Amino acid sequence: MLDFIKDYIAIIFNLSLLLIIGGFYLFDQFNKNIDSIVCPKCNNWHTPEKISENQLGIFRKGHPTYSFRLDPRLSEVKMVWYEKSEIQYRCKNCGHEWLFTKVRRL
Ligand SMILES: [Zn+2]
Repeated sequence: MLDFIKDYIAIIFNLSLLLIIGGFYLFDQFNKNIDSIVCPKCNNWHTPEKISENQLGIFRKGHPTYSFRLDPRLSEVKMVWYEKSEIQYRCKNCGHEWLFTKVRRL
């Protein structure tokens, strides 16, 4: 009986941990895209429309690949390409215009 309760607690704990991580991920994604969803002046949702997109450049960044090895010298660095662009938005409601810099992984 006690083993059953222990398993039950472990499952509940893992599920809540997964929900917390998932919540943080969604919140992060939302924060990154907030400028293209909400107008910063009148705070209206879904009124911004894209006017122009200007590519600023492409750059490479190194990411360590996390392996379960104990020696960090053995973990490799993977190079990832990123594209940086400047997007201009205009609000359909109040006419406010603003720039938004977006970094996209290629
Ligand atoms: Zn607006």
